[in-house]
Amino acid sequence: MTDRIAGGLTGKTRVLAVFGAPVEHSISPAMHNAAILELGMDLVYVPFRVEAADLPAAVEGVRRMGFLGVNLTIPLKEPAVKLVDELSELSARIGAVNTLYWKEGRLCGHSTDADGFILSLEKEMGKQSGEGKAGLPAEALVLGAGGSSRAVCFALASRGVRLTIANRTIERAETLVQELGLDKGVKVIPMEEKLLRRVAASSPLVVNTTSIGMVYDSSQSPLPSDCFYPGQIVYDLVYNPPETRLLAEARRQGALGVNGLKMLVYQGALSFELWTGVFPSLDTMETAAGNSL
Ligand code: NAP
Repeated sequence: MTDRIAGGLTGKTRVLAVFGAPVEHSISPAMHNAAILELGMDLVYVPFRVEAADLPAAVEGVRRMGFLGVNLTIPLKEPAVKLVDELSELSARIGAVNTLYWKEGRLCGHSTDADGFILSLEKEMGKQSGEGKAGLPAEALVLGAGGSSRAVCFALASRGVRLTIANRTIERAETLVQELGLDKGVKVIPMEEKLLRRVAASSPLVVNTTSIGMVYDSSQSPLPSDCFYPGQIVYDLVYNPPETRLLAEARRQGALGVNGLKMLVYQGALSFELWTGVFPSLDTMETAAGNSL
């Protein structure tokens, strides 16, 4: 920590960054710079547009220019696996890296998405139950089998939650189950309305990891409107718009709706802790992130 005046850079300012393509929409700079200012650290967090083909050169730049740390977003999380000196067990398992950080002079890769998802889910469930911390449900329906689904499925399955995974491209879900080495009891189903209605209506936890409902597609929902019930938890990883059609319909029927901003903020805070050793204020980060949507 320094006596640095908020917002000013010094000759010793260290750089944090997010690499991705596109990256212009990212709310990570707002969220991390808010934490940096609050903590009075001599750091700055900057977005860089990096295409997948340029990632090896960009990571070499991280090494040579002494960046303190980097977040990776689409489409760089998977190719980054091969570019670090040391990969966490979790990243090796899910095949993705969202955070580069230094440990004893070695550039390490880890993914904070899985813990960001679980910790934010437990926190929201705890608030709802009024007991601070609530146990995870025994089973869950996960919609989608892309990159974020890998982190979510791994996080839930490794905590003993029985999974049903629904995806438009069924083979992709089957590959996910195989590559993550998930239990044979995991069910894979197609995204068919009748089947989804039946499975969702009996799932205590539903997680949307598809991009359906995002701001350019906000009239859509991945589920029929009539399959929710009081006490059910519906977590939508989509965070823009903050209230997706899925969340609005779930809440209307009494379910606890959790917006993807919670996971985004938690995974960011976990990255920040890896870089600086300090766990930042989730409230500060969430306010800054929400304001920049
Ligand atoms: P991804 O790897 O591209 O996967 C996209 C998923 O959505 C696939 O399962 C895909 O199905 C499905 N999908 C897309 N369009 C569809 C449609 N019209 N009908 C049915 N299924 C459709 O993307 P991702 O990285 O996992 O991201 C997915 C969403 O999660 C995005 O909205 C992203 O912003 C959000 N996200 C949020 C956080 C957070 O911290 N809150 C973190 C990561 C991602 P197919 O396999 O059939 O193509």
